[in-house]
Amino acid sequence: MPKLQSAFMLTDKGYRDMKKAIAACTLSNFSLMLSFGVMIQLVVELIKPLSGGTVSWNFMWLLFALGIVSAGIIFLCLKNDYKKTYVVSYMESENARVSIAEHIRKLPMSFFNAKDLSEITTNLMEDVATSEHVLSHVVPQIAANAISITAICLMTAFFDWRMALSMFITVPLAFGIIVVSRRFYGRLHEKHMAAKLAASGQVQEYIEGIKVIRACNLDGEKFSALEDALRTMKRLAIAMEFGTGVFVTGAQVVLQAGIGLTVLVGTNLLTGGKIEFIPMLLFVLIVVRIYGPILTELALLPEFLYHRIAVNRMKTLMEVQPMEGSGETDLRDFDIEFENVDFQYNQDGEETIRDMTLSIPAGSITALVGPSGSGKSTVSRLIARFWDVTGGRITIGGVDVKTLDPEHLMSYMSFVFQDVVLFNDTIYNNIRIGNMNASREEVMAAAKAARCDEFISRMPDGYDTLLGENGSTLSGGERQRLSIARALLKDAPVVLLDEATASLDPESEAYIQQAISNLIGGKTVIVIAHRLRTIKNADQIIVLDQGRVMEQGTHDELVALGGLYHRLYSIQQESLGWSVR
Ligand code: ATP
Repeated sequence: MPKLQSAFMLTDKGYRDMKKAIAACTLSNFSLMLSFGVMIQLVVELIKPLSGGTVSWNFMWLLFALGIVSAGIIFLCLKNDYKKTYVVSYMESENARVSIAEHIRKLPMSFFNAKDLSEITTNLMEDVATSEHVLSHVVPQIAANAISITAICLMTAFFDWRMALSMFITVPLAFGIIVVSRRFYGRLHEKHMAAKLAASGQVQEYIEGIKVIRACNLDGEKFSALEDALRTMKRLAIAMEFGTGVFVTGAQVVLQAGIGLTVLVGTNLLTGGKIEFIPMLLFVLIVVRIYGPILTELALLPEFLYHRIAVNRMKTLMEVQPMEGSGETDLRDFDIEFENVDFQYNQDGEETIRDMTLSIPAGSITALVGPSGSGKSTVSRLIARFWDVTGGRITIGGVDVKTLDPEHLMSYMSFVFQDVVLFNDTIYNNIRIGNMNASREEVMAAAKAARCDEFISRMPDGYDTLLGENGSTLSGGERQRLSIARALLKDAPVVLLDEATASLDPESEAYIQQAISNLIGGKTVIVIAHRLRTIKNADQIIVLDQGRVMEQGTHDELVALGGLYHRLYSIQQESLGWSVR
């Protein structure tokens, strides 16, 4: 892959488009020279009386006509330039965002454990935006200017190499200053980016935790952490702008010194009789004209030089290995087997699941119970391959889940989490997420079976009511019923219920129990429930403690065993008699 392509993480098409953008920009520069040439001819013609000549009006009219033609050419070139640089680079960054988002979707959950959300958002939005800006506003312009300046340099040197040298000698010097000092402002930029990430993390935490912050009177404490982060970001932004500004301004001053140098050398040559007045004047006009775009490039060059930080971050993200597997394997049987499974969340952490062997027969209801932190949710996450086991294997219908593409595996599973995620969309669309091909009738039937119709009919626009961000207008029980409706619509053969009935009032719980009964008929069901009475009728109950299977059997068998399950069950029975005095 060419260096420039990899430096910008461009697709093959993006790289081809970048070359076209450079060509278009160069063409625009040359078209601008055309009008400049006409203007110079006009000046030469107008000052003829100074040297005893006369102005030819025929020639002047011709120049006016040429001026109009060149304006037309400039318009066409700039239009082409705009299309090739801006439109194409925005398309390329859209592609980049989509491919990063798709890549993220396939990453193991361990990746999200190690990264915080604001860092991923920065990758997706800011880093791509930086790259997009450099691609559209910097690279084509710098490359095209390098080409056109070299051409002008050669042309002017052909007329007078001494004047050409005085005009262009400061260009490499000015660029040199920016390139050599890049380490300095690059470091400032890195620090500023880190402060920005920290600040956006703080903002996110502050907003997400606003309820707790208010409830626990943490306003002062949390707000001062946020204020500190924002203040650090501001301080580093100023330092970065100042640090970069010093070198950019320095480089611009050095470049502008070229105007003085050209005038000085020109005057010297003029007094020595080595150049005529008019050519000398033309050189001065040219130097003033061509320095304009170079001054802009000098200001943009630091962005070009430190944009690699953004690209490197995107590269690092894209290099994280996604979870792979077959998307073709047809699962026909849904027995789930754990064979000596070990699992730990962090490489250097403790094992959460230890040497676990268990069978979940197809079409049965298996309840996972155990004290808090015993690994119940972890078991359900491993079945769905949110994480990969570190030892042993998990099979579904005899197929190792590690060999299955996670999205393909997910098509066989429905989830009902306690923590239901709802989107800022209509109720109808939120249910339809379960099966995007479902008809309106099917969506409504699923909502009915999940006992959602009762609260949906009370909503102002029924199924078309907008839910607001994360369905904040719904109660816990209503959210859960919506999530059951989604699962019903998906109609997957394996159903994972994670604490679906915890913390609900009796009426909501009754509704949810009915909804769940409709959902689980004939499916392989794994249910995690803290309220043991709700899983009394499960086909088997697996009791976990510290990541190990401690007991296994039906409710009656386990109560008779008199072990951990019996103890947990007795405690809960006692708690039913508790009341607040
Ligand atoms: P609870 O009943 O309280 O929900 P649980 O039995 O479902 O608990 P798990 O959520 O599976 O327990 O957690 C088992 C252990 O794994 C706990 O010690 C927990 O701290 C740890 N753990 C859970 N999720 C993660 C994670 N993403 N990263 C690191 N450790 C985790």
